[in-house]
Parts: sequence; structure tokens; C-alpha cells
Amino acid sequence: MDKPFVAKLRRIDPYVPGEQPQSDTIIKLNANENPYPPAPGVQNVLRTFDAARLARYPDANGRALKSALAARFGLRPTQVFLGNGSDDVLALAFQSFFCSDLPIVYPDITYSFYPVWCDLFRIPYRTLPLDDDFCIDLRDYDAPNGGVIVPNPNAPTGRGLTLDALDDLLRHNTDCVVIIDEAYVDFGGQSAVPLLETYENLLIVQTMSKSRSLAGLRVGYALGSETLIDTLEAVKNSYNSYTMDTLTLAAAEAAVRDEDYFQQICRRVIATRERTAEALRALGFVVSPSQSNFLFVTHPRKDAPAIFAYLREQGIFVRYFKLPRIDTYLRITIGTDEQMDRLLDALRSYL
Ligand SMILES: *Cc1c(COP(=O)(O)O)cnc(C)c1O
Repeated sequence: MDKPFVAKLRRIDPYVPGEQPQSDTIIKLNANENPYPPAPGVQNVLRTFDAARLARYPDANGRALKSALAARFGLRPTQVFLGNGSDDVLALAFQSFFCSDLPIVYPDITYSFYPVWCDLFRIPYRTLPLDDDFCIDLRDYDAPNGGVIVPNPNAPTGRGLTLDALDDLLRHNTDCVVIIDEAYVDFGGQSAVPLLETYENLLIVQTMSKSRSLAGLRVGYALGSETLIDTLEAVKNSYNSYTMDTLTLAAAEAAVRDEDYFQQICRRVIATRERTAEALRALGFVVSPSQSNFLFVTHPRKDAPAIFAYLREQGIFVRYFKLPRIDTYLRITIGTDEQMDRLLDALRSYL
């Protein structure tokens, strides 16, 4: 029997991230990380950082990084919010903006952290089914709701919405906050940034974990109107003034300031994705069109968990979700060309 205090503890089913095996020999295609290192300027910051600076608290407002991001997106620094990874930013945004009695809405197949936050913050929600090709039907989003969150491109499907579609979504949802989670937008998606001018209720969340190769550093940010950003700041400053540390702020700024390197590795990931998608189709896989750094695939004659297990034995980790509608699919992160060749060889042997 549990002691009585145990009955008073919070019970919750947490989000479970992809496995992080601590081995250099495995090919890790299970967490949508970038196979390339961060911009050279990041290494330079780490090499030259003076530890004495750590004796002081960081700039709670992250002004230098906000300026760099504002310049990158053509916004004011007051339109930028910083967080400890975009999961931190999203969790704060859920708490800050989804306070209605009406349910918030999002696709039935999507980032599996959303229901966890709804549960944690006791936010009512309703999921809206994607069609059989994993596309969003925008008309589903026309009804009154407590808020909207849509990843663009969506995860784990990789499918993206056009700027016109995003504009349509915003035009029909002006009485609530609409969050577009752009974790993968740099791999060929269409960003909602141009819509910020028109829609004060639009919050765009991006991360440096994927396209900027900084998953281990934990940097995410939101872009939006001053009204939304001020609210996020107030909520953040109500639980922890210092979410971003001095070293992270400096390294992330170096990453943002190297636009050429950023463009170059995004292009490389996209080229590898297209080549891999073609090779997988030749092997009989059905591959969803992807605008992200992963492929969502299924094989009409082979069992997804069995492929997953076989690859794992070969030291190749991909992601399998035992969830309704997608339990016959695998999500495969785009690695280097060499890594994808190893994956394709393993799949050829298996089939
Ligand atoms: C990876 C991911 C995030 C979170 O990334 P962080 O590492 O916390 O910045 C958020 N949304 C989606 C859809 C993701 O796939």
C-alpha cells in the first residue's frame, strides 16, 4: 500500500522523447537532430568564453540575441521571446494564451507534446482529424475555439501548409491566439512571418534544435506582436527570470549571425531528403511528401515495428509511434548522405 501522501501527488503521463543512446557507433535517425555541426562561430564562442562571466546573472532579457533574431526576421526586438528550447516557449505559450473554457484545437496527428501540456495545465482540447493524405482541412478550424496550435510543417508527417493556407487559418481565427510551431520550417516550409504585420494574435515558435544544429544547447524563440510577447515575458518572469544562461545566449547569437552556413546545411539536408525519398520509393515504401528534415514512411507489405526492430539491431535508430492511424509508419530523420546509404543498404537486406 502506498503511504497516504502519495494519493495527493500529481499523476501525469509525461511526453517521451526519442531514445538518446550514448554511443558514437550507432546511426541516430530518431530525434530529428541535424547531422552537421553548428556554425563555426559557435565553436569559437565556446573556445573563447571567459568563465569569470558566469559569476554574474545573465541578461534576463537576452537583448543581444533578441537583436540578432529581430534583424534576421525584420522585426523589432520587442517582438522576440526567448526560451530554453522551443518546448519551454510552447509550454509558456500554452499557459499564457490558452486560458479559455472553450477547447483549443489542433490536428489529431501531431507533436505528441501538445496533449501533455493540455493535461498538465488543465486546458480543454479537441483534435481535428487530418485527411487520409495527412492534410489539414482548414474548414474544420472555422468553429469557435479557445485557441489554435498547428505545426508547419506538421510532425511527424512532414506535410506543410502554404502561406495562403496560413492566411486563411488566421483570417478565420481572429478571436483567439493562433500558434504556428515552425520547428521544421527551414527545410522547405513556408513561414508565417510575413503574416505578423496583419495578425496581432499570431505567435510563431521556432527552435535552434533542428536547422541550427543546437539541440544540446536548448534555444527556442517566439515571434509575435508586442501584446503577445509582453504576456509571455510576464508569465516567464513569474516563475524564473533566468531561463537563458550567459553561455547559451552568446553561442546562439553566433549561430544566428551566420546566415550563409545556415542556408548551406539546410540545402544539404533537403538534397539528401529528396534523394532518400526517391530511393525508399524504389524499395516499395510509400513516402509522404516532406518539407522537414525527416521522412514519414510506410511499407504496404512489411510490418513497421518489425522494420524498426531490425534497424535497431543493425545500430540504426528511427522512430516508431504506437498511436492510432500512424502505427504502420516509421519516421526517419535525414542524416548525412553516408548515413542514409547505410540505412538504405540495411533496408535492402531486410526486404
Ligand atoms: C523538436 C520539436 C520541438 C521542440 O524542440 P526544442 O528542442 O524543445 O526546441 C517543438 N515542436 C516540434 C513540432 C518539434 O518537432
